This record gives sequence, C-alpha cells and structure tokens, in this order.
Amino acid sequence: MHSHRDPTLHDLGRSVLRYADERLRLDPVPLDRPMTPEELQQRAGRTITPDGIGGDRAMDVFTEVLAPACLSIDHPRYLAFIPCAPTNEATMFDLVVAASSIYGGSWLEGSGAVHAENETLRWIADLAGLPEQAGGVFTPGGTIGNLSALVAARWSARREAARRGDGSRPYRVAASAGAHSSIASACEVMDAELVPVPLDESWRLTGENLRAVLAEHGPESFVAVVATAGTTNFGIVDDLDSIAEVCAEHGIWLHVDAAYGGAGLAAPSIRERYVGIERCDSFIVDPHKWLFAPFDCCALLYRDPTVARAAHTQRAGYLDVLTEAADWNPADYSVGLTRRARGLPLWFSLAVNGTDRYAAAVERTLEVAAVAEAEIARRPELELVHERDLTVVVFRRLGWTAADYHAWSDRLLAEELAFVVPTTHDGETLARFAVVNPETTPEDITMILDTMA
Ligand SMILES: *Cc1c(COP(=O)(O)O)cnc(C)c1O
Repeated sequence: MHSHRDPTLHDLGRSVLRYADERLRLDPVPLDRPMTPEELQQRAGRTITPDGIGGDRAMDVFTEVLAPACLSIDHPRYLAFIPCAPTNEATMFDLVVAASSIYGGSWLEGSGAVHAENETLRWIADLAGLPEQAGGVFTPGGTIGNLSALVAARWSARREAARRGDGSRPYRVAASAGAHSSIASACEVMDAELVPVPLDESWRLTGENLRAVLAEHGPESFVAVVATAGTTNFGIVDDLDSIAEVCAEHGIWLHVDAAYGGAGLAAPSIRERYVGIERCDSFIVDPHKWLFAPFDCCALLYRDPTVARAAHTQRAGYLDVLTEAADWNPADYSVGLTRRARGLPLWFSLAVNGTDRYAAAVERTLEVAAVAEAEIARRPELELVHERDLTVVVFRRLGWTAADYHAWSDRLLAEELAFVVPTTHDGETLARFAVVNPETTPEDITMILDTMA
C-alpha cells in the first residue's frame, strides 16, 4: 500500500483531480451508451489481480472503457425517469467530502458537517413552512426517506394506541395510485397494509376521497397517510390542504412524499400548489432530483424530531457514549447508522450561489417544460395526456404502437442524441419528459420532438 508521502500516489492524485476537473469542464458532456457484459469484459480485461494493475492503467480502464459505458445523467437531453443535474459547485465539493474522512452519523464525530447539513435542512423546512423545532437528516434517497418517515409514524401511532389502551395496533397506510413504488416497498418491509385511495377527476388525492377510505377501514387502524407532491410519472401535486385537514381531524400522521416535486417549493410561480404542506408531520425531497445536488441525497424532515429519534435510535454498548448524550445525532433519525455527510455538496452549492439562484434555476426548468407542452399542443401528430403541474410532460404520438415508442427511444440513445424512455399509463405506452436540468433548452425539446414527426 502507498503511504501518504509516496510520490507515485502524488502523481495519481493529480491525475484523478485532473480527470475530475476535465469532466466538470466538458461542454457538451457526451451522453454515452450502455454496453453488454461481454463487451465490457473484453475491453476492460482483468483488472483485479494479486499484484494490482497500477494507477495509470486503472485510470485508463475507467476513462477509456468504463466511463463511456455510463450515461451522463447531467446531459441536457437526458429526460428519462427523473434525471439529476448537479451544480458544478456541488459536484466539486463532493470531492472534498470524500477526501475529508468525515463521519456524518454523530455530533461527536462530525459536528461541523452536521451543523452545515442542519442549516441546509432548515432552509428546506422554511420553504415548506415547518416550525422551528422541525429537523431531520439526509438519507441516501427517497426510498429510505419514505421508509424512515413511515417507521416513525408507526411508532407514534402505536404510542397513541397504547395510551388509548384499546389493544389496537395500527398497521395501515393510505396512499393514492399515483404514490411512488417506494411506498408499496416500505409497506412490504414494514408488513403494513397499503390501502389505495381513489383519485379525483384531475388524478389528485383529495381529503374527500381520503375521508371515505378512512371511514371504511376505521381511522384508528392507520399509521399514516401518504400524499404526493409531484407524482413521478406525471408530476401531479395532491390536494395537500384538504388531506391535511382530514388527517388533523383523525389525528393521523401525514407524510408528504415530495421526492421529485419538493424543489418546486423554491419557485414562487408554483408555490401555491403546495399549500397545506406546512401541516405535514414529515416530508421528503430528493435534492439529487430537482435541486441540483449529486447522488445520493434525500432530505427527510419531521415536524417533531423527538418522535423519529425514539423510533430510530439504535442502542448498543459501544454506542452508549453517543446515545446517552443530548447531542443531535443524524443517525437517530432514519434507517441506517453509518452515514456519509451527503448533505454537504448541497450546502456548499447553496452557500456559494445563494438561494435566489436556486429559485431561478427551478423557474427555468418550468419555463422549458411549458415550451414542451406548447410544442406538443402545436404539433398535430402529438397529444398531451394530462395537464402539467410541474416539469413532467407526458404525451402520445398518434398512431404509434408500444413497439414504435421503444424503437424510437432506442434509436435516440444509439445515436447518443437523447435519453427519453417511454412510460405506461393504464396499459398505454406513452412518451414522457422530465425536465430538471436548467441547461435543457427549448431547442433540445424541439430537436427531440422533430424525431417523432
Ligand atoms: C424518486 C422518487 C422516490 C424514490 O426516491 P429514490 O431517491 O429514487 O429512492 C420516492 N417518491 C417519489 C415521488 C419519487 O419521485
């Protein structure tokens, strides 16, 4: 192994940093393409050997073979799934975090990092209008964020049931058909029953429909209600205010999954859509989606973090020095113990750029999504499927079969022109754009739509 003073290591450090620097300066970034296991095996050869292949060779393998076989998620015409378009400041600072050997799970070990993460969480809590005592943690993603929130909700609901002394054990979660697949996954993990709530005519979860479902099953059997602020497939924001009203009536925990759509809280032009979010008990937003942070980063916030702490704190003799202190330990607020200080790249970028630039960048993506919507309306061969709330646009190409959509998508990727994959709704295959990259231009959109003529 190399010591810190080894000159070879010094050279390697330079070449790693040079690579990172050059990647950050690439304009345009290549979209790249997936390769088969055989292709990669053949081109990369054997890289793990008893003697090691050395730094130069390993960097070459990455640069020449592995990296080109990974799509650039920050490409402006990467509009599939929910992309990620980190600011350069955030990405650069990720290198610093990696180089700093910070443990982000406890105050004792990482107080400086935890302080900055908490200031970042506070900014997000303020966007949502949560009270002063709100707090939380950056988790790896929305899936773990949602699971952690629901585990805290269950802890709270069972404590309430114990107080009532009626012997009940709440085990149900209510969510709409538009809720993300991670909610069903969390219910599987928790052995909770997911109860679907019908959508209204505009495909939103509403208090009225929720009230009927709670009455049917008995409100005391519910651990939580999950509302979605920005469904992943269509970007639809549920009617949060009426949902919050019904949750308050019954004393049920309201979790808002804003993994994708939460960034819209920063955009004045659409802030009104989120009215009611300030009444939630917990919510998540993934800065690695529409808030310009690199993977992996989900902000999880609780109205009352003491509940989450009671639900999540791991206890062990070797951890007593941490758990017996009154400190704010991030590991106490989610599933998972060891954690990277993954909120720091976002913190740094916010500190450098200021929050106004974040608002402007989110607004820019909304403008480009509006252009996409207008272009679709203008073109006779295309048809919008549902009115747009945020920056997801779903549309059909009249006359196309599922095979046509897939062939079109494959061709765009093979030509490294764009990454746009079809989605489905009610069994129908459709085209879908998710715009979260402020570098995506109206010309990018029209260029892609032209390929569907
Ligand atoms: C993406 C998404 C998730 C899951 O988040 P990951 O970070 O991918 O785990 C959950 N809910 C919604 C609404 C999402 O869009």
